Amino acid sequence: MARRLRSINGQANASGGKPISDAEAEDAFRTILKWIGEDPNRDGLRETPDRLVRSYREYFCGYDEDPEQVLRKTFAEVDGYDEMIVLRGVTFESHCEHHVAPIIGRVWVGYIPDKRVVGISKLARVVEIFSKRLQIQERLTAQIANTIEDVLKPQGVAVVIKAAHHCMISRGVHKRGADLVTSRMLGVFRDSAVTRGEFLSLVNADRTE
Ligand SMILES: [Zn+2]
Repeated sequence: MARRLRSINGQANASGGKPISDAEAEDAFRTILKWIGEDPNRDGLRETPDRLVRSYREYFCGYDEDPEQVLRKTFAEVDGYDEMIVLRGVTFESHCEHHVAPIIGRVWVGYIPDKRVVGISKLARVVEIFSKRLQIQERLTAQIANTIEDVLKPQGVAVVIKAAHHCMISRGVHKRGADLVTSRMLGVFRDSAVTRGEFLSLVNADRTE
């Protein structure tokens, strides 16, 4: 297989260094395999650094894409539609920036448009792009809400995320079944208890697993 001589997003990394090649990333994973006490040259592990590089490219493909662009492309004028639009319980997988452990959960996104609406799949794309980066759940929640607010300029945006953090499950305190719930309410969702309550009742009506 051809080795691509580029970093995961084909650009200089955020710390300003030169792009890291796939081969360099594979070497780093080989070092970690040795560090845990393994022989990276045994049959079962020979292809593992390459698989890890490809997995990481998938986990972190969100650095390549601009979520604002996704929303900008598709907005349309609507004749006076001003009811709540809700994307319910869309699944996501992300990774925490403290342990690079999976964060697995669901997102509810609601907004009340003011002239502009966007296809519901575009909201799911915004969730996808931000989740395919190293994250903390609080920031993921805020980024989704703020991006919709900035681009669509709706009357309000509401985002709720419920997620399990594998850094709590497979290490550290070793607790299963605990969800972290975060929310961000903007515009009418913050100002009106009725609007917020309507959205939260939709969130709470959904089974989350
Ligand atoms: Zn963590």
